[in-house]
Amino acid sequence: MTQTVSETTWSVLKLIKWTAGYLSEKGISTARLDGELLLAHLLGMDRTHLYMNFDQPLTKEELAAFKSLVKRRGNREPLQYITERQEFWSMPFKVSPNVLIPRPETELLVEEAIKAIKATFPQDDSLNILDIGTGSGALAAALAKEIKSASIIGVDISDEAIALARENIELNDLSSSVTLLQGDLFKPVGEKRFHLIVSNPPYIPHHELKALQPEVSQYEPLSALDGGEDGLDYYRELIPKAPEYLMPEGWLMVEHGMGQAEEIIALFEETGSFTKIENVNDLAGIDRVVKGQLAD
Ligand code: GLN
Repeated sequence: MTQTVSETTWSVLKLIKWTAGYLSEKGISTARLDGELLLAHLLGMDRTHLYMNFDQPLTKEELAAFKSLVKRRGNREPLQYITERQEFWSMPFKVSPNVLIPRPETELLVEEAIKAIKATFPQDDSLNILDIGTGSGALAAALAKEIKSASIIGVDISDEAIALARENIELNDLSSSVTLLQGDLFKPVGEKRFHLIVSNPPYIPHHELKALQPEVSQYEPLSALDGGEDGLDYYRELIPKAPEYLMPEGWLMVEHGMGQAEEIIALFEETGSFTKIENVNDLAGIDRVVKGQLAD
């Protein structure tokens, strides 16, 4: 009797093709890529190795485990919550549903921060930086990696976020330069003053939350997204308080959503404390970061 092994065996390639079809029926535009990333994750290899092992058959156990991952993705759970990983600034970060998944556009805030620090405090070898609402710790870690002389404090109101950020700081070997504190906005930092304050606060207008992709609206933490009626609640608290936490010539830089630059610039101006107030667009041409320097 001839064994019909080929019909019952799932090879890597066959599985990639099937998953691509399944996930695209679920409305996922990156279906094939996501299937490959999930399979690579499950098999503990990178995508290149997956390509080199197209004919490898999966064991029953691997197949069952893979099916459950694909099902989760099919329910529009973000890929990053399934693999528990996201890269930011070419550094690895662990992510969980307790924190926002770091976005590539937030790298703009890192770039602008480095530029401003290097231009304003070129000689200073004891810089203090504050990251308000650090979440996974992505901004704090990226700044710590790039500005070696800096002491960085990351603050978050969520205990779970602080615990995860701590794991990420250790994962990236930055424990000697980053301190994490739980609390609301500036409360945990006391009387300290900083050369730079950065923040990527929740900024989605409340009524727009439901219209976001299911990956965001159903899985990411609402507390990291919801910026109140017009999305600007956190800026209204943060911007007027920031001057008393800045060193002379220190910078405040905040990420924001599309179309919010003008109102955020107005909030900087209303304090009467800032100079060089400016919006910077991201790579997609969307207004994304507003920065201002403490005036003399
Ligand atoms: N950039 C995120 C999004 O568009 C929102 C992040 C935030 O509110 N800080 O989903």
